Amino acid sequence: MARRIGDSAHSLGESKVLKEKPTLRSVGARPNLANWTLTYDSFEPEQERLREVLTSTGNGYFCTRGSAEWADVDDVHYPGTYAHGCYNRETTIMGGRPVLNEDLVNLPNWLVLKLRIGGDEPINLKNVELLSYRHEVDFRNALVMRRLRFRDRQGRETTLASRRFVSMANMHLAALEWTITAENWSGPVEVITALDARVINQGVTRYRELEGRHVHPIASRTPCADTISLIAQTRQSHIYVAEAARTRVYGDVGEQALERRHYRMEDYIQQTLSFDLQQGQSVRVEKLVSFYTSRDRAINEPLSNAEKAVDCFGTFGEAFEHHQRAWDELWDECDIRVPNDDRVQFLLRFHASHVLQTCSPHTADLDTGVPARGLNGEAYRGHIFWDELYVYPFLNFRLPKITRGLLMYRYRRLDEARALARDAGYQGAMYPWQSGSDGKEETQVVHLNPRSMAWEPDLSQNQRHVSAAIFYNIWHYIQATGDTDFLLGPGAEMMIEIARFWSSIAHFNPKRGRYEIHGVMGPDEFHEKYPDSAEPGLRNNAYTNVMVAWLLDIAGRLLDMLPERRRSFWEQIGLTDLEIKTWKDMSRKMYVPFHADGVISQFEGWEDLEELDWDAYRQKYGNIQRLDRILRAEGKEPDRYKLSKQADTVLLFYLFRQDELKQIFERLGYSYTLETLHKTVAYYDARTSHGSTLSFVAYAGIFAEIDPTTSWERYMVALESDVGDVQGGTTAEGIHMGVMAGTLDLVQRSYIGEVIRDGILYFNPKVMDHLRGLTLPMHFRGLLIEVTLEDNHLRVSTESDSLSNRSVKLGVGDQVREIRAGESYTFDLGTRSRRRLPAAP
Ligand code: BGC
Repeated sequence: MARRIGDSAHSLGESKVLKEKPTLRSVGARPNLANWTLTYDSFEPEQERLREVLTSTGNGYFCTRGSAEWADVDDVHYPGTYAHGCYNRETTIMGGRPVLNEDLVNLPNWLVLKLRIGGDEPINLKNVELLSYRHEVDFRNALVMRRLRFRDRQGRETTLASRRFVSMANMHLAALEWTITAENWSGPVEVITALDARVINQGVTRYRELEGRHVHPIASRTPCADTISLIAQTRQSHIYVAEAARTRVYGDVGEQALERRHYRMEDYIQQTLSFDLQQGQSVRVEKLVSFYTSRDRAINEPLSNAEKAVDCFGTFGEAFEHHQRAWDELWDECDIRVPNDDRVQFLLRFHASHVLQTCSPHTADLDTGVPARGLNGEAYRGHIFWDELYVYPFLNFRLPKITRGLLMYRYRRLDEARALARDAGYQGAMYPWQSGSDGKEETQVVHLNPRSMAWEPDLSQNQRHVSAAIFYNIWHYIQATGDTDFLLGPGAEMMIEIARFWSSIAHFNPKRGRYEIHGVMGPDEFHEKYPDSAEPGLRNNAYTNVMVAWLLDIAGRLLDMLPERRRSFWEQIGLTDLEIKTWKDMSRKMYVPFHADGVISQFEGWEDLEELDWDAYRQKYGNIQRLDRILRAEGKEPDRYKLSKQADTVLLFYLFRQDELKQIFERLGYSYTLETLHKTVAYYDARTSHGSTLSFVAYAGIFAEIDPTTSWERYMVALESDVGDVQGGTTAEGIHMGVMAGTLDLVQRSYIGEVIRDGILYFNPKVMDHLRGLTLPMHFRGLLIEVTLEDNHLRVSTESDSLSNRSVKLGVGDQVREIRAGESYTFDLGTRSRRRLPAAP
């Protein structure tokens, strides 16, 4: 029997291992646990914004929050539509100081449908008595539904059923259907259908003081009797956005005769459809919408293309059938099946559906990266961070063309990254911590502490490790796909430029005989600098330095991996033997700080910081995930204490296998044993507040090696974090892409123990009850493989492919099999040997 959210909260509350227990706030009506649907059975105004995010619909091109069609923006509702790449920059004058920010723009609202019965004011949930209410999303078909029965002030009882999707088959199409049933009355009805460009970005309370006006109106019109259309433009980036909506009403015998009235402004257009409804009769309203922007390909201009497209759309039913088929195909490649745990099964599908809403095959061509908070909220202004490190592995093994497209976003912004490095006095390419339209640094310079309401300086852009993450992402994409074309072109160029950056930011310390990196931050954002220092950044963040040692080793060997004919490319980018020699040297001589007892030190000088009284803070504040805000509101600097926002040093244990880390450390001349792992994890686990939910993903992965029970507890926290809004309000501002995709990746990375060595995909599954019968599809080097974990066996079967007759090599321990398309093989786990894997590439 599946657990409900409340039960999970209880079991988490009892967890002994979690240092910081996030409270699983009730999401009001509990989600129905059927594996494909999230259902709310009552309307809870205070939960509505969260639900709008959890029930959003998108197709990897644009995405719309699950707001009710009748809702305007207010304290309860926040309709929002976002499209990849639609950014706009605006300046806010704050105390005389200009502050420039780039935002992913909230685009015109296409949802608007309102119902007016007998000439009364339009129905909303405040002016009727709700007799029943159901809000549901069916992930299988990416369909959002609401069904409500209500009694209005005149005693009329009506049922309204709404269905909605953003088409995965036709990326420019969205569709809405209303079925209205007059239960105990007959009379005149009006349905108002509109497109509304009077939108501003105001979804995140903390940003309210910042300029939120990004769209200015251009025109609206009525291209034909049943269609309205509208075009608007972003104010600074001049992106045109056009929408056209065709609304028809159907009764028992086809299209309903009705009267249409129009009202039009520059930034808003509506049609009012009037007809009569008889007691017991139902009508269906279909609103089909097309959505275009001037960033699209194969268009003339967005408005005429939107109008033309909407004219050609079939019925809601026809469009839905195509949409369903497109999702069927996606699920064939992406559905991870966990038959032994209903709750986990539901959450994995919920996460996959959200990842695919943001990153679908349509995304590959859009010149975009992955906004850390998806496309259904405005947190972090839609910016693209290092979170891709958690997102790509899931895509690499399922829809690698998407990863390639996303990596091309970085490639097209390589010159900007070169310029950033140059301006900072470095060589090569330094990617920005937060990226948006053109790859400039978009990190804000001040941020609001909602506890103290003070604007505080934001130094987080010194997280240069984002460039290491991009290198890692390229390398792992290539390992999973064998895409040598990408490696020989954009891949190698980015890798080399990133290597150059790292070798130029580092310096050789002759006293230590080692290379050091100063002035940077690790992923732990609680430490931006040393206490009382005016200089931003820290010395020798261990995570950064080890990543650099690893990537410079690969960069130094890249030349040998590429064919002779590519040597000219080396000359083109002016790569010298000296540079390669330096990289090789650095891969052996980066400095890594350790504490006296052998724990890897998060950065040099960490040991001198003060211990925090964790129990006292927990007692005083309950949830202390955001200790930075708490401490600052108390007038204390988090820099002063031994505390981590999230996995930092220990992330190394998540990203690399033990044998690989041992190799890296030994090459550096440091000893690395299992004790290093155990001690370091225990040390930081006791000092991490998990202020970023990414931290739960990382710790779940790390503990999979050490203590599977603890790993599973952390995994459940990560899985429940968005659906239960564990951070108490952040999910209503957008899902957490890194966590959603990271939890999907953990199944393959940590629980089925995937690793690629010498072009062979190895598995080293953990024996866990939850995972019995686990089946997951994986693409490896062009072949679709289904992997199933049975008692003591791991079965792999590959899709037949008569065209290429490809084969791949798969292994468990020292059993390695070459498997051709169409073949299957069962590995016996009972006899798997613990033999060392071949050396990491
Ligand atoms: C985390 C970062 C992350 C960002 C966007 C922050 O809270 O600390 O690591 O990149 O959120 O998700």
